[in-house]
Amino acid sequence: MKLPRSIMTYCPYCKTHTEHDVEKVKKRNRSELRWGQRRFRRATRGYGGFPRPKPEGREKPTKRVALKYVCKKCKKAHQKPGKRAKKFELIEKEK
Ligand SMILES: [Zn+2]
Repeated sequence: MKLPRSIMTYCPYCKTHTEHDVEKVKKRNRSELRWGQRRFRRATRGYGGFPRPKPEGREKPTKRVALKYVCKKCKKAHQKPGKRAKKFELIEKEK
């Protein structure tokens, strides 16, 4: 999938369609202070091991791409549920 680097889309802060910069969300290390991570640490502690079953079967052929949309007007960013794609590329918009 190819997507232009800047698109017109809805901004939930301006409550209207504005120009947005599209960015791929970078992978980050889990914050140890987050509630989910604290619960995970508690669940894996001691005997008993991993709290969730291992995923079975084949790996999915596509991955969901996480994108961040930065409004050019208010500079605020929001995210939308990403689309699945095998390959993903941000391209310059041709005019
Ligand atoms: Zn905005």
